[in-house]
Amino acid sequence: MKHIRQFGGGSAEGRAKDKALLGGKGANLAEMASLGLPVPPGFTITTDVCRYAIAHAGGYPDGLDAEVAEALAKVEELAGAKFGDHSAPLLVSVRSGAPASMPGMMDTILNLGLNDDTVAAIATKSNNPRFAWDCYRRFVAMYGEVVLGVAAAEEDDEQPFDRILNDVKAKHRAHKDQDLSEAALREAVALFKAEILRATGTPFPDDVRTQLWGAIGAVFRSWNNPRADVYRKMNNIPVAMGTAVSVQAMVFGNLGDDCATGVAFTRNPSTGVAELYGEFLTNAQGEDVVAGIRTPEGIAELAKKLPAAYAELARVAKLLEDHFRDMQDLEFTIQHGKLFMLQTRNGKRTGTAMVKVAVDLVAEGKLTPNEAVMRVDPAKLDEVLHPTIDPKARPAFTAKGLPASPGAAIGKVVFTAKAAEEWAQRGETVLLVRTDTSPEDIHGMKVAAGILTARGGMTSHSAVVARGMGKCCVTACTALRVDAPKKTAAFVGGGKEIKLKEGDVLTLDGSTGEVFVGPLPLVPAKLGAELGTLMQWVDAVRKLRVRTNADTPIDARTARSFGAEGIGLCRTEHMFFQPERILAVREMIVASDETGRRTALAKILPMQRSDFAELFRVMDGLPVTIRLLDPPLHEFLPHAQAEIDELATSLGLTPQQVAQKVSDLTEANPMLGHRGCRLAITFPEIYEIQTRAIGEAAAEVARAGVAVHPEIMIPLVMVPEELRRLRELVGKAMTEALGGADVPFTIGTMIELPRACVVADKIAEHADFFSFGTNDLTQTTFGLSRDDAGRFLPTYLDRGVLPSDPFAVLDPDGVGALIELGVRGGRATKPGLKVGICGEHGGEPSSVEFCHRAGFDYVSCSPFRVPIARVAAARAVLAEGKA
Ligand code: ADP
Ligand code: MG
Ligand code: MG
Repeated sequence: MKHIRQFGGGSAEGRAKDKALLGGKGANLAEMASLGLPVPPGFTITTDVCRYAIAHAGGYPDGLDAEVAEALAKVEELAGAKFGDHSAPLLVSVRSGAPASMPGMMDTILNLGLNDDTVAAIATKSNNPRFAWDCYRRFVAMYGEVVLGVAAAEEDDEQPFDRILNDVKAKHRAHKDQDLSEAALREAVALFKAEILRATGTPFPDDVRTQLWGAIGAVFRSWNNPRADVYRKMNNIPVAMGTAVSVQAMVFGNLGDDCATGVAFTRNPSTGVAELYGEFLTNAQGEDVVAGIRTPEGIAELAKKLPAAYAELARVAKLLEDHFRDMQDLEFTIQHGKLFMLQTRNGKRTGTAMVKVAVDLVAEGKLTPNEAVMRVDPAKLDEVLHPTIDPKARPAFTAKGLPASPGAAIGKVVFTAKAAEEWAQRGETVLLVRTDTSPEDIHGMKVAAGILTARGGMTSHSAVVARGMGKCCVTACTALRVDAPKKTAAFVGGGKEIKLKEGDVLTLDGSTGEVFVGPLPLVPAKLGAELGTLMQWVDAVRKLRVRTNADTPIDARTARSFGAEGIGLCRTEHMFFQPERILAVREMIVASDETGRRTALAKILPMQRSDFAELFRVMDGLPVTIRLLDPPLHEFLPHAQAEIDELATSLGLTPQQVAQKVSDLTEANPMLGHRGCRLAITFPEIYEIQTRAIGEAAAEVARAGVAVHPEIMIPLVMVPEELRRLRELVGKAMTEALGGADVPFTIGTMIELPRACVVADKIAEHADFFSFGTNDLTQTTFGLSRDDAGRFLPTYLDRGVLPSDPFAVLDPDGVGALIELGVRGGRATKPGLKVGICGEHGGEPSSVEFCHRAGFDYVSCSPFRVPIARVAAARAVLAEGKA
């Protein structure tokens, strides 16, 4: 078996498609060489060898030595130099390169092949001893760190070779690395070698073959270094992939002022603008640009300093972009005015750049519209729709939680909803910081720029509500301790404590879950024309309809501007929390008999009616699914003494009687308690009056000439009999309320309990539509409380026990199987049964693709996720075509 592929001299064994075997870097080096581009010759040891070495305690397959020797001989021939030779020595780089891009996570060693003899030869041959010793000191330090593991005792201490070099610089009064004389560099090399001997007990290896095998081993080992491990976990890269190792003849950017090294993008990676973008340093080697030792110059300067090399770079950049039909991220070196290409890959980019580049490539005739849609990562559209932290000004974070709702927010912290309102009224921008939020905090959330909670998860109340509002939110920030009464909080962890008081400023990044103390600069979302163009292509392809979860006319308007085709979930209870309404709601709950409840409900009716009427007008003929009351009643109950007193007065009861009522309504497990349609089985008047509000609103709007399509949805059905009874009740109330107005309406149910999926065929007898409530269905299928999962779910994800948060990404094997069962059952009874989803998964790309495959009619998601769902729906169709 062959373990090595050669490249250089205008040809290569292998192409870009061989990434699994050659790694991304090796495969694209081969591709560039085949295209006849100026690539220094070299060879790539395959990922097979990495896997073999991992399985054999670092051992290599038989015959690898001979293959390396043979490959090296070819490189020597092409480069016109010999490895270890005393007159024309070949120097090489030994480079890591995994099939998936992992920038900077593994190790690379430059200038390998230097020892006291070869350095002298290079000095003579180049007629530049300073250059030779500059390479040597770089190599000895890199080799010492990467291969021999010489490192500072403490992580944050200065690394030994840096310390030594700084001492040498100080002694020789050199400000910068380039100021070091040959003598100073010689001194540094001697001190580096002494440090290696001291730290490892073994001298630095002079033998170049020992050096080479040491470096190959170290690069393979770097596949398993902690950095790489964390990066793999974050990006779901399997450890079994392994890395390749490329050995390549060195070219030198540090031979003088007609030499340079740099990185370039074929388009601007933050804006997507078609311009050569990048940085370079003259008289430098690769790592100098990223290491920040010297401040690099903008690529435009290269056109002035080395015009011919710049022109060549521009030509190669265009050629590579056209060839790969995507924006490229290039690494290059210029040696005495001649350009060499060292790497190319598809460039990482912001959401904005992603959209612009995809659309521009279509305009340039390089992609078809459908290909452009497949280039768009729907989840990244978040960044396009929300303001973000300026990537140029991003320090280390102070604390981290779950990225519950994207975007960024800066504000003064407050610890209660009430304080949020007061501060906001004074014109302050606030962040609501809570241990957890309850529905009662909604008015505080509404005025806050962002929300931070210590508890909760991706679908806890604060997360759902914040996403609905398109508001930045970080939940499950476990380092956060809030003392609301004292108006203080703290981030506690790692033996440190950072204290916060009311009014202190934080910056939240809801897209990463990061929290920063102090303000950071933001860049606003710009909804460009490109996004509109992309969306036209998307809409032409997709089969799923996309609706929105919206409780208020404002949400509904936002969602329509993002292309929502109806409301898939309007939660009526969110209308109850406004201060002037909550009292009536509480009266209804505390009432001891039906008459009392009806009296209270009569106060609520006109308010709900006007809410619904406004929603119907905004949606202007699009379907509006309204869910009747769902949450446990105690969520609405007063807890503060002032609120108890107020309620007691308005009901003519004593505060003690009200307090007693509140404690009577307390449930051990409210999520599984008296909620959903169970409320209406016990107190039918609740749904009856809600329905009347819907019907009267619909009639009013219809009579004013606006088409209205209400779909009334009954939550948490577990047995068909519940739906049979409630359908009868709702149907009757609706017909009465409409009073003959021309309003076609339907009555359906949420499927959010495993039992409902199993008996879906029977439930469908009473339903015009199903809407899968996947938040509760996930919770009840997993037996996992979404409000408490924050305590241990992060550990499950971290240790790989679960592949992803099931509240964020629909679990296809368990919850998904139940959904498929439910769809089959429902359509067995009613072939045309309309099926949708209204859980938070409705806006998550892989979950949307699942819904497409399961034959759904629509998905519904929060307003800011509507464009994401549209793209995901289109990609689902295109992916099917490919399969
Ligand atoms: P990373 O994956 O961290 O980018 P690379 O293997 O790409 O590591 O190497 C980093 C840098 O080292 C390159 O960008 C380039 O500037 C320099 N480099 C690597 N190989 C060579 C070489 N053969 N000649 C000159 N410079 C090289
Ligand atoms: Mg690189
Ligand atoms: Mg539910």
